[in-house]
Amino acid sequence: MVRLIKDESLTASWQGFFEDQCKAAIETLATEYPEKRSLLLDYWDVDKADAKLAEQLLRQPYKSFFNAEEALRLIDVASEQKMDLHFRIKNIPEDQKILIRKIRANRLGTFIAIEGLVKKITEVRPKLQIAAFQCHKCGAVIRIDQDEDILKEPSECFEDQGGCGRVSSFKLSSTLSTFVDSQKIEIQENPEGLRGGAQPERLSVFLEDDLVGGVAPGDRVIVNGILRSVARHRGAFRLTSFDKTMDAVSIESQEFAFEEVEVTKEDEKKIIKISKDPMIYEKMRMSIAPTIYGLDIEKDALVLQLFGGIAKEMPDGTRTRGDIHALLVGDPGTAKSQMLSYMSKLAPRSVYASGKASSAAGLTAAAVRDEFGEGQWTLEAGALVLADKGLACIDEIDKMEETDRSSLHQAMEQQEISVAKAGINATLKSRCAVLAAANPKLGRFDEFMPIHDQINMPPALLSRFDLIFSILDKPNRKTDTDLATHILQSHKGGEIHEHLNKTTDDLYSKDQETKFMKHVLPVFEPEFLRKYVAYAKRNVFPVMTDDAMEILQNYYVDFRSSSKDSVPFTPRQLEAFVRLAESSARIRLSQEAIIDDAKRAISIIDQYLRRVGTDRETGRFDIDIIATGISHSQHERMRLLLDIIQRLCAESEDKSVNRADIISEAEIQGIESRKVEEALDRLSRDGQIYKTPQGKYGIP
Ligand code: ADP
Ligand code: MG
Repeated sequence: MVRLIKDESLTASWQGFFEDQCKAAIETLATEYPEKRSLLLDYWDVDKADAKLAEQLLRQPYKSFFNAEEALRLIDVASEQKMDLHFRIKNIPEDQKILIRKIRANRLGTFIAIEGLVKKITEVRPKLQIAAFQCHKCGAVIRIDQDEDILKEPSECFEDQGGCGRVSSFKLSSTLSTFVDSQKIEIQENPEGLRGGAQPERLSVFLEDDLVGGVAPGDRVIVNGILRSVARHRGAFRLTSFDKTMDAVSIESQEFAFEEVEVTKEDEKKIIKISKDPMIYEKMRMSIAPTIYGLDIEKDALVLQLFGGIAKEMPDGTRTRGDIHALLVGDPGTAKSQMLSYMSKLAPRSVYASGKASSAAGLTAAAVRDEFGEGQWTLEAGALVLADKGLACIDEIDKMEETDRSSLHQAMEQQEISVAKAGINATLKSRCAVLAAANPKLGRFDEFMPIHDQINMPPALLSRFDLIFSILDKPNRKTDTDLATHILQSHKGGEIHEHLNKTTDDLYSKDQETKFMKHVLPVFEPEFLRKYVAYAKRNVFPVMTDDAMEILQNYYVDFRSSSKDSVPFTPRQLEAFVRLAESSARIRLSQEAIIDDAKRAISIIDQYLRRVGTDRETGRFDIDIIATGISHSQHERMRLLLDIIQRLCAESEDKSVNRADIISEAEIQGIESRKVEEALDRLSRDGQIYKTPQGKYGIP
């Protein structure tokens, strides 16, 4: 970022400023140079000492920074040690902070700040800073400062640099040239700044020297930098319309989640008062998507997900997630998408994405070679990384790309995504809760078919969800009437509202509007709920009481033993209980997770297992269905069948057996032929048996 605009008096002003204000800081830097090579100051420190200098920084940043850096070289310690320091400014005035979408041409060449998420980063690559050209005629070396994107060559062999003064041709010498590390990143607007499904806008930013390598995709940052234009080309022609880009001066990271949500002392009082309400859980539920009728258990679960459990760091360095992942599977038109979009608007730091990836990064992250990197590798963050420390709402997750499937496991459980490709080796954080929705493969849900057969998702991935709810759309006079009333009344309320606003007649009154709208009004306004959640997540870290632990332990042990030799329940479910119990305590702002919290966790998981984890044949819960895709009874049957095939093969001459023989033998042992077919398919798919060219079965 060198823009050569020498100004002796400006340099002198800066020199004065540094000598008065920064002597000590520069002396400290001298001890750490060249590891540290930037003098980073708060804008307001400059402003306090010299408001005119500060103001000029904002209006003429290239000139100011160039001359300030010139001045830095003149400070005693710096000149003695030949230090070449960068001058960086952070925390610039609020009115210089602009939304990316609001950047206009009048800001070009000024010092501004943008806030957002790092969406992409390129590899770090060397960039020519001072190019050394060797004259073909006299051999002199001519140095040219490269302060633009396009290589500047000498027009003649400059005499003031010891050259021959003739017009000549030159050879660029990379060994004699100086390079600086450079990196290009892309900043995307924060999702919470967007309303109504607007597409976030982006801006590319150039980083140099000690700023490179400092950010990863998914990071939340404020970039202070100078807005500039770059020429666009069509073929060999330069166009008159330019692209905008930014040269970074400094980057501030925004570490803490929920910091966007400000909770005042007054809010705090109100939150604490409400937390003592005995109806708090019902009221929370009634504040989630009130226009959607029913789905009470789902809404209870979403409240728990919003508050979340506690992420823990163990002494051995392992980390267990506190985020609660939930999946809604169900018939079309059951308000799944509606629910997701509501939650994504409610939760701070949320990202709404569709499984049908729109960008190359998809749901997790990808290293791609694209135009942005000008042919170099670029690392791009997907939805789960962008939702770090927030909520990722993923609609139609069953339609996700093949590449996402494999990385989603790690992203959901370890909450990290590793990318190792070409020159890029990175681990990105995805510490978010996932709320996903999926449609059944066959269009509608079949209650009597195991869930894994109905959604196009691998069982191992399904088991990463703490909660899976199936939402069925079955005709029922009572609920249909209630739902219709709910929807129609809320529409009527909406109509009256519009009518009141847009017409001048007095056919309707505010009272009538309120009457129809009351069903769809949340108990807590989204804005307040956000504050509540933020407050709880910042201040409440509940610990389980002994009784609560005992209840969870007993439930777990009983559950496992009640189903004899099958293993219906895995330690994963136990962890889910803990997370839900912690979250339940958080809702009350309780620093203790007590028996009631444990019971609430159990009741929710119970509901979900009852719906999706039941083995249709035995009527028993069976988490195997979710974990492996086959129920214990199916598993037994496959084993029995494998025994039969093994025996029949051993008895036969060609070591293979007919389908018909297997079926009749299995029927003797009490297995229906339909189930035999199904099990045979699965066995051959798993490679436990194979088909001979004659259409018989054999054991490999
Ligand atoms: P899905 O994603 O499950 O296919 P959508 O979220 O697109 O369904 O919902 C379809 C429409 O039906 C939406 O306008 C939604 O508001 C309405 N709807 C469905 N179920 C309900 C419900 N229980 N209460 C209110 N509206 C509902
Ligand atoms: Mg949908």
